[in-house]
Amino acid sequence: MIETDVLIVGAGISGLNLAGLLEEHSVNYRLLEKRSTIGKHGNRIVNMDVVKSLSLPESLIKYKIQEIRFVSPNGTKLERKDTAVRGVVVDLFDVEKMLADRISKTDTILFNQKAIEVNLKNNLLITQKEKFKFKLLIGAYGITNWASFESPKKVLCHSVQINTNNSYPITVFINSKAKGFYGWIMPLADDRVELGIGSYLSHNESAIKLKEKIFQMPGLEQFKGKKPLTESTGIIPVSIINNFYGGNFCLIGDANGGEAMMGASIHKCLDESKIACDSIVSMMQNKENYSKKFISAWTRKFYDDISEQQKMRKLLDETDDDNINAIFYKLTRKKLEGTGLINALFKNIVMSLRQSQEC
Ligand SMILES: Cc1cc2nc3c(=O)[nH]c(=O)nc-3n(C[C@H](O)[C@H](O)[C@H](O)COP(=O)(O)OP(=O)(O)OC[C@H]3O[C@@H](n4cnc5c(N)ncnc54)[C@H](O)[C@@H]3O)c2cc1C
Repeated sequence: MIETDVLIVGAGISGLNLAGLLEEHSVNYRLLEKRSTIGKHGNRIVNMDVVKSLSLPESLIKYKIQEIRFVSPNGTKLERKDTAVRGVVVDLFDVEKMLADRISKTDTILFNQKAIEVNLKNNLLITQKEKFKFKLLIGAYGITNWASFESPKKVLCHSVQINTNNSYPITVFINSKAKGFYGWIMPLADDRVELGIGSYLSHNESAIKLKEKIFQMPGLEQFKGKKPLTESTGIIPVSIINNFYGGNFCLIGDANGGEAMMGASIHKCLDESKIACDSIVSMMQNKENYSKKFISAWTRKFYDDISEQQKMRKLLDETDDDNINAIFYKLTRKKLEGTGLINALFKNIVMSLRQSQEC
């Protein structure tokens, strides 16, 4: 049996970031990963808070975002440019690898260790290979159904990469086929773009059906017939699980849910791992109740942000209005707040719209 103060399940960005922070504070931990390696490829938009907090080197940045375009189902476009860089595109693999490289005690990450059973009463967890005793268990296992905590709503995403000679800004399609979620064009380095679409899993979508729908979206028909260079499918949680914590257990990152596309999930993963680390350190030093501290810090940090994101999603869910200007007009009167990337972009557009209306 391996004994540890903190046991983290899942070496994605949330678990890796938490592990690095715990190491800085000399907290004894183990990080379990069911796969045999670190890193999952996939292009991600992250906001400038993430760039700063991770001290992301230029070499990992594929694209700097200064311009955004929104396209409604009837093809109406709304474009805004900004002098400031509002976010960047990175490959998740590079970021996860960088975080893993920052951990010096490599024997604390245990691969091929799939958590299969947990007993919170006796602080025990078993994998197919080993038994672990912990003081605190942190679930950073992403959108899997392990330990029976599952996000009630999930979005299936499918993306393809294609070659193109034209340049495109980040383009967000209001998705009439999957209301409340987006389609996107994401510019990448070397004349490539990523096209993506999402749909609620409850709609029984398959990745194959979604792939066909990508090329039916207004603005994306132009890419029909283009051969995808790579394709990938992923699941994003929608809605937050924030009331299931026990005294010695909590969830961070996608395991704790999210508001996909609305607020940059990676931003949430990093913030939650920081809050978890601060709560662990203060528990170790002052014997404070860990989960109470985590929940109150979480609520302070996220509650307003997530509520604004949920409001925005509801607005997009409910609108039958094809006219993107009308959607944004409604948004301007709602005074959006929030720190996520898309929120920041929306907010920026909303503010400039408001200013132009006032002129
Ligand atoms: C297509 C797509 C596009 C996205 N775009 C963006 C974007 O543009 N911007 C953004 O901010 N976010 C984006 N996201 C979301 C972002 O990628 C996630 O929020 C983030 O990567 C989640 O990290 P995580 O560490 O919480 O979970 P994960 O990355 O899922 O990591 C969980 C880890 O736990 C391991 N695991 C699972 N079960 C067990 C078990 N039983 N035992 C041991 N290990 C286990 C898994 O193997 C995995 O390594 C996107 C997601 C998708 C799918």
